[in-house]
Amino acid sequence: NIKGNSEEIISYFDDVTRRRLLKEEEIEKSMNEALKNEEFQVYLQPKYALQEETISGAEALVRWFSSNGSVISPGLFIPVFEKNGFITELDLYMIHKVCGILRNWLDKGYKPLPISVNISRLHFANEHLADIINEIVDNYVIPHDLIELELTESAFLQNKETLINTVIRLRQYGFMVSMDDFGAGYSSLNSLKDLPLDIVKLDGELFRITDEVERGLTVIRNTITMAKDLHMQVVAECIETRDQVEFLCTVGCDIIQGYYYAKPMPVDQFEKQYLLL
Ligand code: C2E
Ligand code: MG
Ligand code: MG
Ligand code: MG
Repeated sequence: NIKGNSEEIISYFDDVTRRRLLKEEEIEKSMNEALKNEEFQVYLQPKYALQEETISGAEALVRWFSSNGSVISPGLFIPVFEKNGFITELDLYMIHKVCGILRNWLDKGYKPLPISVNISRLHFANEHLADIINEIVDNYVIPHDLIELELTESAFLQNKETLINTVIRLRQYGFMVSMDDFGAGYSSLNSLKDLPLDIVKLDGELFRITDEVERGLTVIRNTITMAKDLHMQVVAECIETRDQVEFLCTVGCDIIQGYYYAKPMPVDQFEKQYLLL
C-alpha cells in the first residue's frame, strides 16, 4: 500500500541524511586542524599537448591525508567546504603550495611547466580575488603565465557581474583562466557567452560511450569548433582510451588530460618523471 511504502522511503532517506550529516560534522570538526597540520597535499596530473606530442602542464588536485590514516577524496569534502565557506581558505592554500612548487623549480633551474589551480565558483564571486591571487603570486616572484585558474562548478551563482569582473581582472594580471567541467552541471553555454576565458575543459562525461556514438561525437566536434571560434584552447578531461585520443586528434582538440596519459601523482614523482633541467 502506498502509505506504507512512502513511509519506508522517508525513513530510508532519513537514515542516509543522518549518515551524511555525521560525515559532514566530522569533516567540519577536523578541517581547521587539518589545514594547520598540512594534511592537505598537492597532487599533480600531467596535461598532454596533442600537436607537440609533449607534456604541456599540470593540474593541481588536493588530497587529504587524514590524521586517522585514511585518504579522503575531494568529491567528499569539497562540497562540504563549499557549503560552509572553508573552500576559500583551501583554494588560497593550494595557490600558496603551487607557488612554492614553481619557486622551487625555478630556483633549481628546471624548465617550469604551467600549473592550474581549481578555484570554486563561489570564490570567484569575491571582488578582491584577482588582487589576492596577484599578491600571493608576486610574493613568490612567479611569472604569471605559469598560473592558470580553473573556474569549477558549484551549487549556485550569486553575483554574475563580480564573476565576470574577476575573470577580466585575472586576465589583465596575465593569468590564464579556464572553465572546468564544461558540458556538465552548471557550466553552461551562457558562461562561454559571458566570460572571456582562455581555455575550456570538456567534462569527461562527454566522452562516456553510449549507444548513440554518432550523436556524442557530433556534440564534441561542434563544441570544439565553437571554442576555436571564440579563440579558446580546448582541453579534454578524463581521457582513458586510445580511441578517444585518436578522435580528439581528428577534431582539433589541443590538450588531453586523463589516465590514458597519466594519473594525478605526488609532486616528487612528477618532478622525476616530467621535469627537464
Ligand atoms: P576536476 O577539477 O574536474 O578534476 C578532474 C578529476 O578527474 C580529478 O578528480 C581527477 O583525479 C579525475 N581524473 C583525471 N583523469 C581521469 C580519468 O582518466 N578517469 C577518471 N575516472 N578520472 C580522472 P579528483 O582529484 O577526485 O577531484 C575531483 C574534483 O574536486 C575536481 O574535479 C575539482 O572540481 C575538485 N577539486 C580538487 N582539488 C580542488 C581544489 O584544490 N580546490 C577546489 N575548489 N576544488 C578542487
Ligand atoms: Mg579542474
Ligand atoms: Mg573537470
Ligand atoms: Mg570535475
